[in-house]
Amino acid sequence: MRADDLKYSELLSIDKKYGFPMLGPNRMMLMGAEQIINIGRDLVKIIGHERMATILTRIGFSKGFGIAMAISELYDFESPEEWLKAGTRILAMSGSASGTLDEVVIDREKKIFRNKGKWRESIEATAWLQDENNTRESPVCFILTGLASGYASAVLGSEVLVKEVTCMAQGHKHCTFEGRSASEWGLTVEEVREYFDLQPFEEEMETLKERLNESKKTLNKREIELEQLKNLSIYSSSDSEIIFRSNSMAQTLMLAEKVAPTNSTVLIQGESGTGKEVMARFIHRHSDRKDKLFLGISCAALPPDLLESELFGHVKGAFTGADSNKTGLLQEAKDGTFFLDEVGELPLALQAKLLRVLQEKEIRPVGGNKNIKIETRIVAATNRDLKKMVQEGTYREDLYYRLAVFPLKVLPLRERKQDILILARFFLSRLNPRHPGLAPATIRQMENYRWPGNVRELENCIEYSHILAGNQHIMPDHLPPEVLSGNEADLITTVASDFPTYKELEKRYTNHILEYTKDNKSEAAKILGTSVTTLWRRLKD
Ligand SMILES: [Zn+2]
Repeated sequence: MRADDLKYSELLSIDKKYGFPMLGPNRMMLMGAEQIINIGRDLVKIIGHERMATILTRIGFSKGFGIAMAISELYDFESPEEWLKAGTRILAMSGSASGTLDEVVIDREKKIFRNKGKWRESIEATAWLQDENNTRESPVCFILTGLASGYASAVLGSEVLVKEVTCMAQGHKHCTFEGRSASEWGLTVEEVREYFDLQPFEEEMETLKERLNESKKTLNKREIELEQLKNLSIYSSSDSEIIFRSNSMAQTLMLAEKVAPTNSTVLIQGESGTGKEVMARFIHRHSDRKDKLFLGISCAALPPDLLESELFGHVKGAFTGADSNKTGLLQEAKDGTFFLDEVGELPLALQAKLLRVLQEKEIRPVGGNKNIKIETRIVAATNRDLKKMVQEGTYREDLYYRLAVFPLKVLPLRERKQDILILARFFLSRLNPRHPGLAPATIRQMENYRWPGNVRELENCIEYSHILAGNQHIMPDHLPPEVLSGNEADLITTVASDFPTYKELEKRYTNHILEYTKDNKSEAAKILGTSVTTLWRRLKD
């Protein structure tokens, strides 16, 4: 059999069952130039030009090798040369290009192959030219090159690499190529093989995968670190950190940070146990006075006489037992910060003296006759409603306004539930850094509790629970009884203390919710799990 004897009509047929186009026994898929270009363009975008070229070349290679093997099963060719030439006929049949071969040398035993040739009207070159309407810098007939290489390799029984030398897409009249066995390429073989070999790509993939794995590990570590930091949200490294996650606390701290560097008096308001002293220390730490003293006293801790002497000092003989001069704490604090806790408990007589401190920046020790200048900054705190006390006449209005130059409000824990878990974990980690933590049901229970004693109560609760739980997860049973049953107890005592009927209970509960929502009917209906209309009807009844 000679290549010229090949008959298209014999070789190409239509499968009888489905109507598929067949090349000998092999089913074909028709693909237009446009599709090749689309694939090529997509590949360039995804993996870059080099790898696109490699992939198309390899597709061509396996196709060419397959065709050569299939055709050799159909026909016995006279010589390897004829077998090779048959390839160019098939190339034309497939619509790829019209090829001619020159200078063919094939030695199957010595595995030597050399040829040169031309491809006219290459479908790839035509397509790329149409695509960009511009000539290309280098050859583009990758599939064709692959096909020729694969086919020739099958014929030689050893690797043949075809290189496109000039391409129509570069503005030449036609494409020219050169094919050689690996040994014939000599030293340039690696360069030619570049487009056939996916090894570098695979190697690079491996390297990239390794790098990705490394990055993932680092990221994991960072995430854990970040999670730990998030869990602690520590504002400072001192022992009086402020731990929070709630927006309200973030807001308060933002304000505190703003006022900290000034010399303004600050009034911190909040229920007991909310951490007002921690806030005062925070202000001190964020002020220019941070390296100076931070002193403080609770106005509720001492009887009025003693409190006065502690705050302002006394001179020798001022009262029985005053056998030497004593410097007051306000003076002792020098250019530091003085924290005046529970300032609402300050007796009226001392309120006047404090007013003087704030207005004139001076104190007069008990029994003394000279005023002493002080530079201390005052940060006061109270859990009382000072404004109300002013209205009731138990607190000096002028002092109130002097104190409340910059009021800061620390919300009770129940109004910033997001802080409960993070604080609980913090206290737990302080007791035992390796503790496994709190069970989800415990957290739920804690988040629903009202915490009348606020952060301090939470701290005690964790200490209590930790004693009961030991090194096990803290379960709801481990919580102090009031936390465990607090919510239910509240509800039962307020709504059902005298065993009402179901109807009565419903009425009371509805009223309770309306009170809670400040008479907002739709809000109340939502909580009660009913419609507003039903709620109205119930209220009418
Ligand atoms: Zn070309």
